[in-house]
Amino acid sequence: MEEKTYDDDVVNEPNMRDLVVKRMEERGVKLEEIAEITYNLQVKYIPELSFASCLEHVERVVTKREVQNAILTGLELDQMAERGDMSEPLKTMLLEDYGLYGIDEVLALAIVNVYGSIGFTNFGYVDKMKPGIIKKIDDIGKQSGRCHTFLDDIIGAIAAAAASSVAHRYA
Ligand code: MG
Repeated sequence: MEEKTYDDDVVNEPNMRDLVVKRMEERGVKLEEIAEITYNLQVKYIPELSFASCLEHVERVVTKREVQNAILTGLELDQMAERGDMSEPLKTMLLEDYGLYGIDEVLALAIVNVYGSIGFTNFGYVDKMKPGIIKKIDDIGKQSGRCHTFLDDIIGAIAAAAASSVAHRYA
């Protein structure tokens, strides 16, 4: 028999989708706002695309285990930095969203990775353009002492992954 090294009931939480959606809402982000980015990324290629369909693809992305794990990890690190519950130099790097830190993007790639190479292209684009809620989250992070170092990349990655999922669907 295989020996358990962790509590399966805790890790295999059936409502992980609900949990990560709630955590993101607590950080000021709704799935609808992520779907808006996905819609804007894809509507130029698929004119008949609907917002509802984009939201469905975002939903699909957040049911993936690897995506949920990346969300939980990133949001936790942002909040630990905000609380000051973190040692230096990491605390300052996260609080000041230090440009050469780079691990926020690396974590987000775990999300994009689920949908292959179009995902990477979309993520790069979103990371540069900072559309919609990403810009909003970035600005709040700069002005209010909130830490959104991981959150902005997680949002961008979910939007990019959903855009890739849409592209695959219509290909
Ligand atoms: Mg970031």
